[in-house]
Amino acid sequence: MQAAQTFRQPLKPLDDALQELLAHAKPLAGSQQVSTFDADGRVLLQAAVSPLQVPPQDNSAMDGYAVRAAECVVNGAGGEAVLPVSQRIPAGVAPDALALGSVARIFTGAPVPAGADAIVMQEDCEVLEEGRVRIKTQPKTGQWIRRAGEDIRQGATVIEAGVRLTPAHLGLAASMGFASLNVARKPRVALFSTGDELVMPGTVAPQDMKPGSIYNSNRFFLRALLLRMGCEVTDLGIVPDDREATIAALADAAMDHDVIVTSGGVSVGEEDHIKPAVQALGQLDLWQINIKPGKPFAYGRVNRESGTGFAHFVGLPGNPVSGFVTFQVLVRPFLLRLQGVQNVLPRSIEARADFALSKSDKRREFLRVRYNERGGLELFKNQSSGVLTSTAWGDGVVDNPAGTTIAVGDSVRFIPFSELMA
Ligand code: AMP
Ligand code: MG
Repeated sequence: MQAAQTFRQPLKPLDDALQELLAHAKPLAGSQQVSTFDADGRVLLQAAVSPLQVPPQDNSAMDGYAVRAAECVVNGAGGEAVLPVSQRIPAGVAPDALALGSVARIFTGAPVPAGADAIVMQEDCEVLEEGRVRIKTQPKTGQWIRRAGEDIRQGATVIEAGVRLTPAHLGLAASMGFASLNVARKPRVALFSTGDELVMPGTVAPQDMKPGSIYNSNRFFLRALLLRMGCEVTDLGIVPDDREATIAALADAAMDHDVIVTSGGVSVGEEDHIKPAVQALGQLDLWQINIKPGKPFAYGRVNRESGTGFAHFVGLPGNPVSGFVTFQVLVRPFLLRLQGVQNVLPRSIEARADFALSKSDKRREFLRVRYNERGGLELFKNQSSGVLTSTAWGDGVVDNPAGTTIAVGDSVRFIPFSELMA
């Protein structure tokens, strides 16, 4: 009876589900000061405001000579420019002002001496006897000088709070002198799979697999995706299709985790024990989301027995591709928001379909596609929610609105996996 009612529910638009989910994703309390070395992938909580300008002073972009351009009139009235070398400035040295009527030997990155207004690269100079140099090309004022502050102005907000740090950000932070950064705590996530048919690779050899058994693939990609989202993962393995066992696993996991992620068991068959188990310990919304692959998805809360709050509960569908895609479009933004990320939506780009989709679907589809050499997208032949090969073959997904067919040459919205897995 209840199953029939659930089935008749109108499908929930993905954007509504996402908004609801994000409304529950209050950023985790607590931050951490980590070494800049270790901050890759972490979410910055305190904006990085530069205490200095970068580079700190004008410096040379070349090995060569620092000159006054006006004193180097080549092929002008005075013939050639031959000038004495008055000082030598390697990187890391504070130079004297450039003496009038002279040049300074200078190396890449070394500070430009006061008075000099151009660098002549050494390839355009000829070293003469008695410490003199012939300048062979006419320098332009300002040439080969990297200006103080051209990268970063003092006082500028260089990395905003809520940014997920990349290797580039670590370098940038270090260039401003930050040895450590204030970042969000990693969400502690407990992961388990449900399903009596599941067998862990390594425990039973392929030739000895019993009829009806399959290897647990979701556990592997979900764990890896969670790690990429900056989570600390506790892998709780496979929980049998049994109500009491599911309740016990959930109650235990809620104690010391922020989020519990499960795969399988969120449909409405009688072997799906997630729903009653979560309801026994807290609350659960079971959604039928208007996406393909995907559809069944659960969000809820598991209260801690200690009475100290709750763990978020996220139930993913068991079909591997459904779980994979649902993770990317719903769980990824949720986990990022828990860490304080503002822009949690993946960027999509317009691309050309080099395939046709003649049959539209009532649901919004995420089609696994990949680029061909002409810069167009090819469709993986079998888009079934059980065919995990499509996810490894693809470069990303086409986000195809419900009820839409695609003709060869059409413009489509493409979301690269590089966006969805980073
Ligand atoms: P369920 O959502 O539990 O009804 O499962 C739907 C389908 O996904 C069934 O064919 C399951 O065998 C399969 N499935 C569930 N969990 C996993 C898993 N961890 N790895 C691979 N396939 C799974
Ligand atoms: Mg199952």
